[in-house]
Amino acid sequence: MPGKSDLRFHRDSCFHCDYLARDLDIFRGEPVGAAVIWVLHRELSSLSAKGWAWALPHYLPFCLSPEAQDKRTETEFLLYSLAPVEKFEAETRVRLSALSRQQVACLVHFVEWCKAHPHWGSYCPSEIEDALNFLKRMQA
Ligand SMILES: [Zn+2]
Repeated sequence: MPGKSDLRFHRDSCFHCDYLARDLDIFRGEPVGAAVIWVLHRELSSLSAKGWAWALPHYLPFCLSPEAQDKRTETEFLLYSLAPVEKFEAETRVRLSALSRQQVACLVHFVEWCKAHPHWGSYCPSEIEDALNFLKRMQA
């Protein structure tokens, strides 16, 4: 886990970033499990680029796990955070800026998996399309 101040998207005076950094710090030194993913999913927009690069290798496999099929909010919020409206696109690019090209390609595969998924494909098809288009612009 990155240092506490490296987890925050905003440097100072942001309560969302304060809460996220504080709530994640409780789990420092422990394996990243469902409880950490739960904390992350509520504040993905308060997570720094370093934080995203650290979290995704845990977060994505969680979304594919049987556990996540029950409580689906984590997958839903990740999809929404990958489908920014235009005025938040630049900010979202900053959050994803520490990912390698392979990691961005992995996100594309994940969103394509969601698109073909019986639940996600019909639950939020327009967010899925927006996420794919956004990620493909990032890859360009
Ligand atoms: Zn913040």
